[in-house]
Amino acid sequence: MSENQQKPKLAVWKFASCDGCQLSLLDCEDELLALADEIEIANFPEASREVLPGPYELSLVEGSITTPHDAERIKEVRAQSKFLVTIGACATSGGIQALRNFKDVNEFIDIVYANPEYIDTLETSTGIADHVHVDFELRGCPINKKQLLELITLPIMCMLILNCVVVRLIKNSYSNSLPLFYRIENQILQLIAYV
Ligand code: SF4
Repeated sequence: MSENQQKPKLAVWKFASCDGCQLSLLDCEDELLALADEIEIANFPEASREVLPGPYELSLVEGSITTPHDAERIKEVRAQSKFLVTIGACATSGGIQALRNFKDVNEFIDIVYANPEYIDTLETSTGIADHVHVDFELRGCPINKKQLLELITLPIMCMLILNCVVVRLIKNSYSNSLPLFYRIENQILQLIAYV
């Protein structure tokens, strides 16, 4: 990728979770290093405190919604994300913390916390799709590393290829680029069929 082309941004967001699904991503470090020239990791709480500004081409969301603050935060994440993918049982269905949905959460708060008056929480733990539009859900506890890699690489490869098409169409006249367009479109379809 040339220096003046912006790399697609990948952001990972954490909500109520044990971080296990983020660790699956961290476990992909060799594969991510291979992609380092093509993508920019804009946010990854398990690996770095740095957060680059959006918009983000791909957001991976771990964890469920359990607080009023997180119910607002996920809307901000959605607004800045072109593709939003939920990863793991917490994000897709509320996780083990959704056991609270069948009881009075205040009972648990009184038992667990010395100063329950400081706890601001929702009655329920819910998946991300209950709050915002989700483009794809990757299930599991934790998620499967191979499936995660396929998820990350497919949209990035498609975006890179489409980027090439747009650049070529701008540089040349549309008619001159038509055969190229069909060749690349075919490659994209093959990629999608592969996954
Ligand atoms: S889905 Fe499982 S591994 Fe992933 S964050 Fe939730 S509890 Fe942890």
